[in-house]
Amino acid sequence: MAVDNVPPLTSDSPSGLAAVELEISRACRDARRERASVTLVAVSKTFDGGAIEPVIHAGQRVFGENRVQEAKSKWPALIEKHQGLALHLIGPLQSNKAKEAVALFDAIHSVDRASLCEALAKEIVKQDRHPELFVQLNTGEEPQKAGIAPADADAFIASCRDVYGLQISGLMCIPPVEDPPAPHFALTAKIAARNGLKLLSMGMSADFETAIQLGATHVRIGSAIFGKR
Ligand SMILES: *Cc1c(COP(=O)(O)O)cnc(C)c1O
Repeated sequence: MAVDNVPPLTSDSPSGLAAVELEISRACRDARRERASVTLVAVSKTFDGGAIEPVIHAGQRVFGENRVQEAKSKWPALIEKHQGLALHLIGPLQSNKAKEAVALFDAIHSVDRASLCEALAKEIVKQDRHPELFVQLNTGEEPQKAGIAPADADAFIASCRDVYGLQISGLMCIPPVEDPPAPHFALTAKIAARNGLKLLSMGMSADFETAIQLGATHVRIGSAIFGKR
């Protein structure tokens, strides 16, 4: 872990992170996977710098936010102060915020429509910054949820590459709350495999162990680390 110019751990250092780390390690062991094959994205949305810093001090370096404006208001100062942080956008992205998103984030998990691909491609070239890109699937085909329907996924992924010149690294999904998550994770993994995509962003506080069993490379965990929002 990078040496940091921060105060030592205090008694309020987060127990949630330690518990999540233990459970990720256990899930990796059960699935016969290396711990290093799973990236923990600590989802800090709604929490301010004061709540985030103890988690940084405890060694966590990858964080997720779901709103560009909120991330812009709190992360530049933290990134300046601490070495080696990576910031992931896990929420919906409006095309008119593509510029800010490409400038701030190291990964974008919510690529889900042609107009956004066009805006991202333009900014990636202009800024010469290359965040890792995930296409978001709507595996439950829920009308209120963002993401590409499974039946449209292959064509959309191909168009990201062929029409917009975007390099897509993986897929992301958020299963319907009322469903068992495993079939949604398995479907996402299957679509990724047949499209040659290596990364799988799936699993949240309630279901990350199942996601790790089914191949998740990125688990997005908020409340189990930071507490209730
Ligand atoms: C908030 C959020 C998470 C984290 O959810 P928890 O249940 O708090 O772990 C994960 N993914 C997305 C897309 C989110 O918006």
